[in-house]
Amino acid sequence: MVAPSLLAKLTVKSAVLLIPSPSPLQTLRSRLGAHARTCQFFPFQRVSISTSTSYRPDKHRAATPSNSPDTSPYPFRIFHDDISSLRKYRGEINHNGRTVGLVPTMGALHEGHLALIRAAAAENSDVFVSIFVNPTQFGPTEDLATYPRTWDDDMEKLSALNNKLTFPNGLGRISAVFAPGVRTMYPTLPPSSDVDGAGSFVTITPLANRLEGASRPTFFRGVATVCTKLFNIIQPERVYFGQKDVQQSVLINRMVQDFHIPTEVRVVATTREEDGLAMSSRDVYLGQRRRQVAPILHGALRAAETEYDEGRLSRTEMFGAAIHFLETERLKLADRGLGGVEFELDYISVADMEEMNEIKDEVDPRRGAIISGALKMLPVKDPQTEEERAQKPVRLIDSIILTPVISVNNFQH
Ligand code: AMP
Repeated sequence: MVAPSLLAKLTVKSAVLLIPSPSPLQTLRSRLGAHARTCQFFPFQRVSISTSTSYRPDKHRAATPSNSPDTSPYPFRIFHDDISSLRKYRGEINHNGRTVGLVPTMGALHEGHLALIRAAAAENSDVFVSIFVNPTQFGPTEDLATYPRTWDDDMEKLSALNNKLTFPNGLGRISAVFAPGVRTMYPTLPPSSDVDGAGSFVTITPLANRLEGASRPTFFRGVATVCTKLFNIIQPERVYFGQKDVQQSVLINRMVQDFHIPTEVRVVATTREEDGLAMSSRDVYLGQRRRQVAPILHGALRAAETEYDEGRLSRTEMFGAAIHFLETERLKLADRGLGGVEFELDYISVADMEEMNEIKDEVDPRRGAIISGALKMLPVKDPQTEEERAQKPVRLIDSIILTPVISVNNFQH
């Protein structure tokens, strides 16, 4: 069993701050016990692995310069394809009684990624950041080719952050960046994005088929596969994921548990723009007008959260509040001069924290829940600039944890 994750610890804080005082939920919390606290469960799930031996050319090699660790111009080592050097370096860290926290990313780093690195530096002597645009988690029609790749900018951000991580601001610092090519990560098998494509894959079902997985059928197979590889190569004591991709965090927790991977999973609260939009590398695709509308997804989830905070636990009411918010905001767009901006809701989900199964009736406040949603920002219907004429749909996801309330007393007897 993995240690209770930061998911509970970090989100509790923000969720409690959002609760009006005194709310019915707080009343309930005090009824449940003065020492009420939160907890996270990740019960067992079926896992299957499929393999194949066919091979196809590497089409998506990472566009990053190749410099050996010793010639890195940055205050950390950079490893591309030399896994044995990386392992040797990692072994030395182990030998010296230090610990490694791994932050897996696809680059195009922003404050959300940096928050994960700060969390890793707070409890590990050495932080490894991986940067790998993993082809197997992109569907055949998704944006693999155009996914933002900003190597120099990323290195600058990591260097600047490292300078600030000096003790006492952080226990550790960034020691290494691992930015492998596709052939290194997929040495003998094709990185297929097809649902029934061949490859050595890790699949976590049925979790991977729900919500995000329903819209992106190979996404979680790609994520689980690449994370297994990263965990095997780096063997970190701890790994850090963002709550923004909440289903991914639940899936990784499940995978680590089911495969007995000796690492602890930490989940870090979502970093947001001032207007509530969850930061994402894909936000750069939005353009100026769609960007102004993008925070509505967070607004819709907050509307559902308010129902819970005020003691209305019915899934239907939470769902209804979110939809009502979206439709009201849609009607206001023309008045805001944003009549050309259109969006399509993919889903709003109120699900349990263990399996992300939809809650059918009422949220049990002792168990809490995850409200998540996905929304597609469509290309503007009256493009006025080159950028707008070239727009493609941008999918936004977001989530909020409904704080579980568990009486310690319940467990003492
Ligand atoms: P990505 O590079 O988009 O694959 O994300 C790498 C990691 O950063 C994942 O664990 C994400 O959940 C996390 N992450 C991305 N955006 C945010 C955010 N706004 N706040 C916190 N974590 C994030």
